Amino acid sequence: MLFSYINRSRVPKLNHLNPYAWIDRSLETIRQANWYRSPQVIASLPGTEVVIDDRVLLNFGSNDYLGLAGDERVIRAAMAATQQFGTGTTGSRLTSGHKQLHHDLERAIASLKGTEAALVFSSGYLANLGTIAALVGTRDTILSDRFNHSSLKNGALLSGAKTIEYQHCDLDDLRQQLQLHRADYRRCLIVTDTVFSMDGDICPLPAIVELAIEYGAMLLVDEAHATGIFGKTGAGVVEHYNCGGQPLVVMGTLSKALGSLGGYVAGSCSLIQLLQNRCASWIYTTGLSPADTAAATAAIAIMTTTPQLRHQLWENVAYFKQAIAQQLPDLRLIPSGSPIICIELPDPQTAIAISQRLRQLGIFAPAIRPPTVPTSRIRLSLMATHQPSQLARLVTAIGLTFAETKVS
Ligand code: PMP
Repeated sequence: MLFSYINRSRVPKLNHLNPYAWIDRSLETIRQANWYRSPQVIASLPGTEVVIDDRVLLNFGSNDYLGLAGDERVIRAAMAATQQFGTGTTGSRLTSGHKQLHHDLERAIASLKGTEAALVFSSGYLANLGTIAALVGTRDTILSDRFNHSSLKNGALLSGAKTIEYQHCDLDDLRQQLQLHRADYRRCLIVTDTVFSMDGDICPLPAIVELAIEYGAMLLVDEAHATGIFGKTGAGVVEHYNCGGQPLVVMGTLSKALGSLGGYVAGSCSLIQLLQNRCASWIYTTGLSPADTAAATAAIAIMTTTPQLRHQLWENVAYFKQAIAQQLPDLRLIPSGSPIICIELPDPQTAIAISQRLRQLGIFAPAIRPPTVPTSRIRLSLMATHQPSQLARLVTAIGLTFAETKVS
């Protein structure tokens, strides 16, 4: 009887339409813009050479800056942990998923970062999403660098805080936004990558810390591409700039220079306790696997006791930049202070064409395009384990490719 009240003439006849038809239309739009992406199989151990489509290529496309993802000692630690504790942790950290391995890794991270405590997440992405949403809410504001990583941007969205993007690394703009908006909100969180993952430049951290203090704002720094690379002990850009004693929320990943998987937040004991009680992306997800956890702990030990790895990486960066300056002075490199070095290109088609040609010449160097970044580029990431001869091959291949495609 109830249904007789519904005016059927007003219900459009939709059941003949395919409700998923929009997916193919969206894919077509993505393809037409040359933005279409798909994963490819890497059929070898991580390293300076990788096998793709049955060919051995020189690898300039990974975040494995110290070459630890394929390091025998790290692999052995992961295998031993798997044998002793199994493949999965079987539950969230607050239920059945917490192991001594997690405790040991969190102590190692806190000690590396010089903080009271640390908390390990199942990925860096989850660490950013959950931490930002735990620190601020709808009565608060976030000031975020325009080029911040997607996980920081989506963490800001999830938090419901009023998010204002300031111009990339622009201290005047950051100050102006603080002046304009700080007083209107309960809490304020400034958020920045320390090394920008798709540009390779470094944020002006000491000045950002000063602004945060002046305006009573919290400051979350993402050290994903800095840990293991910057600072005397490899702790990151915070250490590099001597900002360790400042009231910061430091996050990072275990998946780049540390060659494993997972993310972390390092800071005061009370910050970590708050996250353990308020951070949904830590509370409601399964604890990091024994293999990943033990691999990261082993990688931190190797990284901190082998500073030569870091020195070798910086030597490679200097060698490559010098070779480019001498042999290809017209190449447009995006300003970088890290092992991430990007070649700026006019459009996505050119970026794809250059990446494909480099691949024919035996070089794996991915094209990075919108919407990941505002402008297209080839992103090269150097490793400590690259040999000078491999870097020389890269420079020759870039020279050849750019001469053929007439892009400068
Ligand atoms: N922050 C930055 C700056 C990153 O580049 C990444 C990964 N690309 C993440 C966070 C997310 O880390 P994960 O891969 O551990 O999820």
